[in-house]
Amino acid sequence: MTEVKQTVIEKLKQDKKLEKIETESKEIKAKIKELFFVQKEAIEDLNKVTNKKEIEEIKIKYLGKKGPIMQMYSTMKALNGEEKKELGFYINHLKEILTEAIKEIQISLEKEELEKKLEKEKIDITLPAMQIEVGAPNILEKLVEEVEEVFLSMGYDVVDGPEVEEDKYNFEMLNIPKGHPARDAQDTFYIEGEEILLRSQTSPVQIRTMLKGEGKTPIRMICPGKTYRRDDDDATHSHQFMQIEGLLVDHDIHLTDLKGTIDIIAKRLFGEEIETRFRPSYYQFTEPSVEVDISCFNCKGSGCNICKHTGFITIAGAGMVHPNVLSMSGYDPKEWSGFAFGFGAERMAMLKYDIHDCRVFYNTDLRETRIFDRKDSDKND
Ligand SMILES: [Zn+2]
Repeated sequence: MTEVKQTVIEKLKQDKKLEKIETESKEIKAKIKELFFVQKEAIEDLNKVTNKKEIEEIKIKYLGKKGPIMQMYSTMKALNGEEKKELGFYINHLKEILTEAIKEIQISLEKEELEKKLEKEKIDITLPAMQIEVGAPNILEKLVEEVEEVFLSMGYDVVDGPEVEEDKYNFEMLNIPKGHPARDAQDTFYIEGEEILLRSQTSPVQIRTMLKGEGKTPIRMICPGKTYRRDDDDATHSHQFMQIEGLLVDHDIHLTDLKGTIDIIAKRLFGEEIETRFRPSYYQFTEPSVEVDISCFNCKGSGCNICKHTGFITIAGAGMVHPNVLSMSGYDPKEWSGFAFGFGAERMAMLKYDIHDCRVFYNTDLRETRIFDRKDSDKND
């Protein structure tokens, strides 16, 4: 802008038409001298101008209705024809050169302000992009969701229950009376006396569901959730862990139904080529009880570290619901039968995703958990 302004001002200064007056009339001479002072003053004002607002003000000051040029025109009324012509020539000249000068500076200022604005709004594409952290669900959460989908597709309900539980639902109604040695293996955290505790298994949700069914409604449910036991934390133990238990109660339910169900789950979660195997076991709330093995998905049965060279991996405990449990919950064991099963979510996730330390599920260390990012595991699926 400075350059344009200086050129315009220089041009105005060079214009000496109003200085070298050729006239006989004293009156006209005085008026033209007045115009010359207006020219000089305008040059000074234009020299100081720095923005659009200021140039607009100058335009009004000199070329506006109340400006010196318009006022000079109004004094022409009193003059005779020749004088009018003479003065008119000089007024027109000043008007012309000021209009042009102001216009040039105005255009230059507008251009400059636009450039400044564009510069300010310019996006620097060489700047590094902002890093966006993308979160991922906890690996256990993801596993539970997967299991839920399988069971929902088979018509099961997903049921929630309290984590702070009564001894009655956590033990007694599951055929584990006070003083029973099985309680030792499930030593938990007591909240109030010996009656209120953190549930050591999700089985109490099954009891609550059966009580709701009042011995009349068939049941098909799973109840994934957190459970607690007084364990020292290490690579394979945690004082908090997750179970995915399920229960089916109906008429004419047999061990083969349990086997078929478990078989489908194993295949859906670990692959179609997976085989299941039942081994006799013992639980207080099922009779008969079994342990569920699946053929090793890693070595296909030939033996490896994961299956400890047996070709099979234990993934669940299961069995036919004990008649005592059925009757305590209001279902007549002569009429009703059912099966129950329980998976350890951590164990399943450790097998499925080749995780060697279960503490990783509960740590918030991103360096560890990021490895099991959902996106990555989906790619492997
Ligand atoms: Zn193996």
